[in-house]
Amino acid sequence: MKSKEAEAEPRRELRVLLAEDNAVNQQLVIHLLEREGHEVVVAENGREATEKFEEGAYDLVLMDVQMPEMSGLEATRRIRKLEANDGEHSVPIVALTAQATEADRERCMEVGMDAYLSKPMKEEELDEILAELSADAPQG
Ligand code: MN
Repeated sequence: MKSKEAEAEPRRELRVLLAEDNAVNQQLVIHLLEREGHEVVVAENGREATEKFEEGAYDLVLMDVQMPEMSGLEATRRIRKLEANDGEHSVPIVALTAQATEADRERCMEVGMDAYLSKPMKEEELDEILAELSADAPQG
């Protein structure tokens, strides 16, 4: 992580797909993202996440692992498959989960997630990931 440097660089607004079934966590993440000027689209479960992913262009996906109807792991598998079919670049997918074992992390990486945030979400950890993404991504 290079949060200090990233903070000094110009930021751009990100369009974020938040897949999260818990209303309290939804509101927390929406608050943190909108406060930084980012745009948030919410999906209530994994199936809705894949549908919304297909409909719009996103800079980042925050994916809860445990959701009804379709898990974050399965939704990530499907999103990566959609991307492969379309020949598009990979959108970063960050796992949100209360599970913290090494095996859980590995499972997230195996299905194509890029990073991992443990719940309850820590503001500093989210900020670090956002700073990296908005600094690394091409402007405009
Ligand atoms: Mn959940």
